[in-house]
Amino acid sequence: MGILESLKALLFGKHDVSEGKKDEKPEPAVQKAEPVKTESVPATEKPADVIVEKKASIIQEPKEEKPVAEKITVGHVHMSGCTGCLVSFADNYEGLLTILDKYADLVYCLTLADVRHIPEMDVALVEGSVCINDHLSVEEIIETRKNSKIVVALGGCACYGNITRFCRGGQMNQPQHEGFLPIGDLIDVDVYIPGCAPTPQQIRNVCVMAYLLLKGNDEQKALAGAYLTPFMNLAKAGTEACGCDIMTQVINQGLCMGCGSCAAACPVRAISMEYGKPQIERDLCIKCGACYAQCPRSFFSFDVVNQYEAIMDAIDAAMQP
Ligand code: SF4
Ligand code: SF4
Repeated sequence: MGILESLKALLFGKHDVSEGKKDEKPEPAVQKAEPVKTESVPATEKPADVIVEKKASIIQEPKEEKPVAEKITVGHVHMSGCTGCLVSFADNYEGLLTILDKYADLVYCLTLADVRHIPEMDVALVEGSVCINDHLSVEEIIETRKNSKIVVALGGCACYGNITRFCRGGQMNQPQHEGFLPIGDLIDVDVYIPGCAPTPQQIRNVCVMAYLLLKGNDEQKALAGAYLTPFMNLAKAGTEACGCDIMTQVINQGLCMGCGSCAAACPVRAISMEYGKPQIERDLCIKCGACYAQCPRSFFSFDVVNQYEAIMDAIDAAMQP
């Protein structure tokens, strides 16, 4: 096409495709405007009105009802933690979606949602310890206790201080932030889930059991109570933990069977098995409490162990999508 023809095509919208750019791809058919069918549209009605009506009809379509009333409300409260506990919760993958779909509405979680103030909750999963030099953190944990039926210390920092036990302050830009306490030193805590981070399964199990405790039938409530009681006892036992616990509470009591679960659970490999028994490198220990929590001879009572199959069946049934 010559320059004149191109100019004409630009000015008058005519473009002879048979001439010139033979290899130019035709516009895909889907981009062509469909001819407007006017038979069913009254003469007074503009096509735009039809579109608006169509949108309105979509909005009015009945929505699928969800059993929100039967769900419990759960919040994730982030104190001085690293978000690793929340990541571990998310590591339940489809299991987390099942929990959120069937059992729990996540009503507060600054990492995932835009609710700025701590609402009333059935279960508060609190991650991290509390900086006692930061009055907002102290107020936040007290508010959490006031607004929650069940407070769960999620992870080693919330339960025992964990790595924040080693904070000494003096770092810019808040050198005065030198004191960090496990939440149990400031408020009453109902359930502990120790570990750095706690396993996804542990968090999932506690959520499902909290649901059964609050919303289940009598049998389910009894089962959930049996499962949660050791975690509640752990919360009453205190806010101190270190690798020495397996020494003083398990090995020295003649309970250790050399299974190696403590060594497998330690996130910093402070425990090695020597001659079939755990040896703890205390300088490596970050005081997370995982070794004691994972030891099968520590805080789980035989009552719970004897109900293990029923508990796992209840959890498996609950987690069916
Ligand atoms: S020995 Fe390891 S698992 Fe046990 S409290 Fe110390 S860091 Fe945690
Ligand atoms: S986890 Fe196993 S090896 Fe470690 S203290 Fe407990 S019983 Fe012993």
